[in-house]
Amino acid sequence: MQTVSRVADLRRAIGTARSSGREPVALVPTMGNLHAGHIALVEAAHSAGGLIVASVFVNPLQFAPGEDYEQYPRTLEIDQAKLAEAGVDLLFAPTEAEMYPNGDPGTRVRVEGLSDILCGAYRAGHFDGVTTVVSKLFNQVAPDLAFFGEKDYQQLVVIRRMAADLHMPVAVHGVPTMREADGLATSSRNQYLDADERRAAPVLYATLRSIADRVAAGESDFAAMASEGRARLTAAGFRMEYLEVRDADLRPPAPGTEIGDLRVLAAGWLGRARLIDNVPVSEK
Ligand code: AMP
Repeated sequence: MQTVSRVADLRRAIGTARSSGREPVALVPTMGNLHAGHIALVEAAHSAGGLIVASVFVNPLQFAPGEDYEQYPRTLEIDQAKLAEAGVDLLFAPTEAEMYPNGDPGTRVRVEGLSDILCGAYRAGHFDGVTTVVSKLFNQVAPDLAFFGEKDYQQLVVIRRMAADLHMPVAVHGVPTMREADGLATSSRNQYLDADERRAAPVLYATLRSIADRVAAGESDFAAMASEGRARLTAAGFRMEYLEVRDADLRPPAPGTEIGDLRVLAAGWLGRARLIDNVPVSEK
């Protein structure tokens, strides 16, 4: 696996690969500190059968003031070994100056509406930071496909919307969430949990799963189930931001929405970790 930190080198390497027939080009964007969830994205990218480009960049623009930008774990050497092992061809690990050559981004990409609900209501500017950096990555790499985790379901919906609205020639693929044996979604932020919090953390998935199962079984009072779920998580030690049943595009379900199109999503704090998770109602 080759690692590059400059856009010019990235483009040269991809151009060479394309001209020797290594296509399609698949992109897996990450912030590093890689775990099994990221590797699942690389595995999904393998199914495209072409060149796999991964990126590692802790994007300052997507951290709201007071969030964990400074303390976010940076483990590039270990990440390189994991990506090479997973069969990634090319790693793009730019510096902040390379990604934002004029300092302040100046030009920002914003998906109206979808960026302001759910997580967006609690993380000012977060999704604008994500869409800005992902649009840069799409311009830098010019991938045919890009892979994102369903773990960050709102991010996936926002990026799909951005790509569609701006006619970006890239197919955005979602990959199901990887979980620890006890159901907790794998995440770099799990390492902020102490031992007691780690024991309590799987209640998040268990609560979402049980609501999704009740919806699948025909229960339809979403507000009541959500409020029960929030109470259960609060009792387990979470400081809840939201727990909601939404449709696949994150709208409140309209009467008659197909049960299989529904998803249960939540975010809350456990100690100093902000945990998010979501499950599709159709999943068993
Ligand atoms: P991050 O490095 O946290 O920005 O995540 C990079 C990509 O990996 C995003 O598309 C995430 O949705 C995805 N990802 C993170 N955790 C998981 C997980 N547990 N399962 C599947 N994908 C994940």
